[in-house]
Formats: sequence, structure tokens, C-alpha cells
Amino acid sequence: MIDGRAIAAVIREDVAARARALKERGVVPKCIAIVSDGDAPGLLYAQTARHGGAQVGVEIEIVPIGAGADTSGALAILARVVEEPSAHGVIIQRPLPERIDETRVVEAMDRRKDVDCCHPQTFGLLALGRPLFAPATAVAVMELLKRPPAPALRGARVTVIGRSPIVGRPVSMLLIAADATVTVCHSKTADLADECRRADVLVVAIGKPNFVTADMVKPGAVVVDVGTNVVNGRLVGDVDASVRDVAGAVTPVPGGVGPVTTAVLLRNIVDAAERQTN
Ligand code: NAP
Repeated sequence: MIDGRAIAAVIREDVAARARALKERGVVPKCIAIVSDGDAPGLLYAQTARHGGAQVGVEIEIVPIGAGADTSGALAILARVVEEPSAHGVIIQRPLPERIDETRVVEAMDRRKDVDCCHPQTFGLLALGRPLFAPATAVAVMELLKRPPAPALRGARVTVIGRSPIVGRPVSMLLIAADATVTVCHSKTADLADECRRADVLVVAIGKPNFVTADMVKPGAVVVDVGTNVVNGRLVGDVDASVRDVAGAVTPVPGGVGPVTTAVLLRNIVDAAERQTN
């Protein structure tokens, strides 16, 4: 098992030290998270980040998009929030409800404050290999793969299942930048199990409980399970427990990608605060 909580603790220590240094200059690193009404997972993510941030000197404010707000309402909220001088970062919890045109909203993001990498230009820089910010979950996967028991990524065969803009796509770009040989799979992939079995490292971000089973994993491979699914009131990943008998190492759910994601988000906010203060 790869211990995500231990890796998160190391990142949080660095964040806390840098937040203290900013505070000595009169700056409290702050992010505003915009969460639409009824988005329970988005609200939980923002609340978890707010709780974690409070422990390391990073402030997170949650601003709701009300049930009645349409695209212009959401744009008005974002315009107000990005103008807030005390906020160094702004996050839009996605997906937004269908009544809101998400493309228009993310295109109105201020790139300096785009700590979750939602604006097409921020994402474009990531795709070109010179990221300003990268989505916290994608960076969390890289943090988990940075140290043993993960193999060196240079030249390694890595398969990513999932191509969402929040996880699969950005993690693939970070892996390419780390000189891995990357295969990206999705719901239309033929012979998914074959693609997985070729991988030295398998990153799974599908959102289907226990989807990846032992027969899909190369013996000794490292498996990163991004999935968070609630089954009978319990949090489970996309990777079945049987994989532990075959893999060299697996990230647990909970206690793997999740805590590292929160720590990386806080680090992205401190990065933004430092850039804007300098
Ligand atoms: P998403 O937007 O629903 O994307 C899911 C991806 O999986 C899509 O690319 C989809 O393919 C692919 N997929 C679905 N069924 C498949 C199948 N049978 N075979 C192969 N590929 C399949 O989800 P997401 O936002 O990327 O999130 C993925 C999971 O990660 C969820 O469980 C989410 O809760 C979790 N998550 C965790 C964290 C964390 O911090 N721990 C953060 C974000 C997300 P198509 O593109 O072809 O539809």
C-alpha cells in the first residue's frame, strides 16, 4: 500500500511554512470555491479543503451558486469573486448543472487565480508542458508516483483509464512531461484489459466501483486508484481488492489520492499567493 496520508503530511508541512512566511508579510493565502446548489460531492471536497486549509494557514471560502441561477447568474458570481482582492485563487466546482453553460463560465476565469486549471489557456500551457497550474488530483497522482515503490517514470509504460478534463487528460499530460510512454483508455477502448496488462503503472480514474480486477494487472505493476465511489455507505475505489495480490503496490481508498489532492490544492493556492505577492 502506498500511504497517501504520509505524503500529504509532507506537502502540508511545506505549505504551512510558506503560509507562515506570507503571513509575516501581511498576506493570508486565500481561495474562493464556487459550488453549485445540490453538488454534494463538490461541497464535501470544498469543505474538506477548508478544514485542511485552516490547519496550515490557508483560507478557503465557499460561495454557492443558487438553485435559480442560470449562466448569467453564475457569470455574475464569478466576476464578483475574481475581483475580490483578498482571494489569490478561485475554483469552480465542476460539472456545473446543465442549465449553466460551463464553457462560458470557465472562459471567464482570471488565469492568475486559476488554481484548478479550468481555463482553456491554463490547460493549454499544461498540454504544452509548461504548466502554470495543474488540477490538484492530477498532480496528486504524480506525487504518489514520484517515490518508491513506484518505478522511475522515464521510459515506463503507463496506462491511464479515463480522459476527463479534471483527471485523465491532465494526468496523461504530466506523465508525458515525465517521459513516460502513455496510453490513454476510455469507454470506447477495445481490449481494455490487454492495454492494462501491458502497463508498469496503471492509473485508474473511471468512477466505477471495483472495476479493475486482478486479471487486468501485470504482476508487480504499481496501481493508482483515483476512484471515489460510495457503496452501501462506504467509500470504495475503482480498483478491486483482488488487485493487491498481483500488483507491486496499490494506493488505498480512502487514504490514497484523496488526502494528497487536498494538500496539493492548498499548495497551488500558496503558489498563487506567492506569485501575486512578489
Ligand atoms: P468522469 O468525468 O465521469 O470520467 C470518467 C472517465 O472514465 C471517462 O473518460 C470515461 O470514458 C471513462 N470510463 C467510464 N466507463 C469506462 C469503462 N467501462 N471503460 C473504460 N473507461 C471508462 O470522471 P472523473 O471526474 O474523471 O472522475 C473519475 C473518478 O475519480 C470518480 O470516481 C471521481 O469521484 C474520482 N475523483 C477523485 C478525486 C480525488 O481527489 N480522489 C478527484 C476527482 C475525481 P469516456 O470519456 O469515453 O466517457
